Amino acid sequence: MSSKLPKNEILDIFRETGALLEGHFQLTSGLHSPQYFQCARVLQYPKYLHLFAGEIAKHFEYNDIELVISPALGGIVAGTEVGRLLGVRTIFAERKNGKMEIRRGFEIHPGECSLIVEDVVTTGGSVFEVVDILRTARGTLSGVGYIVDRSNGQLTFDSKQFSVLQLDVVTYKAEECPLCQKGEPITKPGSRGNF
Ligand code: ZN
Repeated sequence: MSSKLPKNEILDIFRETGALLEGHFQLTSGLHSPQYFQCARVLQYPKYLHLFAGEIAKHFEYNDIELVISPALGGIVAGTEVGRLLGVRTIFAERKNGKMEIRRGFEIHPGECSLIVEDVVTTGGSVFEVVDILRTARGTLSGVGYIVDRSNGQLTFDSKQFSVLQLDVVTYKAEECPLCQKGEPITKPGSRGNF
């Protein structure tokens, strides 16, 4: 399920804050894309963090959520705001030696109704790892809320799930890229330390 905020208004906010860039990009996967998205750039503004986290909080406000848990690093900012709005304890999981775990004395109590919050979901890998952490701790997975769904609608988390926006990813193999064929100069986000 997605938010009722108009998609074009959300996209305008993403463009205006530089979160969504349009042009010709080489992604870290090596694939080419006419878009590059960096969610942190929109969430640096309190009013937009509040707006998007607020959509997630509103969606789950009647689900008796007792705990918000986010995968580090991207999910922490959104998770903290959702937790604040719902007035519940908020923790995060982080990767150590490649494995996602909760540290810092954080706890998940058995049966605790937990909402996973993430900023952007593409393959869903980090979210699935947090689902495993919840299962191991015998917490109850009550839902998964994220700001941007980049999975092209492909993911199911075995729970209520909600995204503020579905933003389909368009990618091309380098040799089939129409932008390359038009001779458009390519940018590698990250290569200048900007992302
Ligand atoms: Zn290209």
